[in-house]
Amino acid sequence: MKCHCGGLLRFDLQHLQDAVRLGLRDDVSLFWKCMVCGRTRKSDESYPLSQVVASLERFTTPIDAQASRR
Ligand SMILES: [Zn+2]
Repeated sequence: MKCHCGGLLRFDLQHLQDAVRLGLRDDVSLFWKCMVCGRTRKSDESYPLSQVVASLERFTTPIDAQASRR
């Protein structure tokens, strides 16, 4: 998936982490952010937050685990 400007879109993890911190239980949309122009793109569908977080944890290292390893 690419931005209109041709830049690479990266998954906006920050947005989800904020939702988790706020304790949102509603469905959330996925956000992608362009690394070139900074434009964000929202997915058309929304998913239950718990489901999104569970799938994210498969390929991201939890911040807590990084901190305790130091
Ligand atoms: Zn762009």
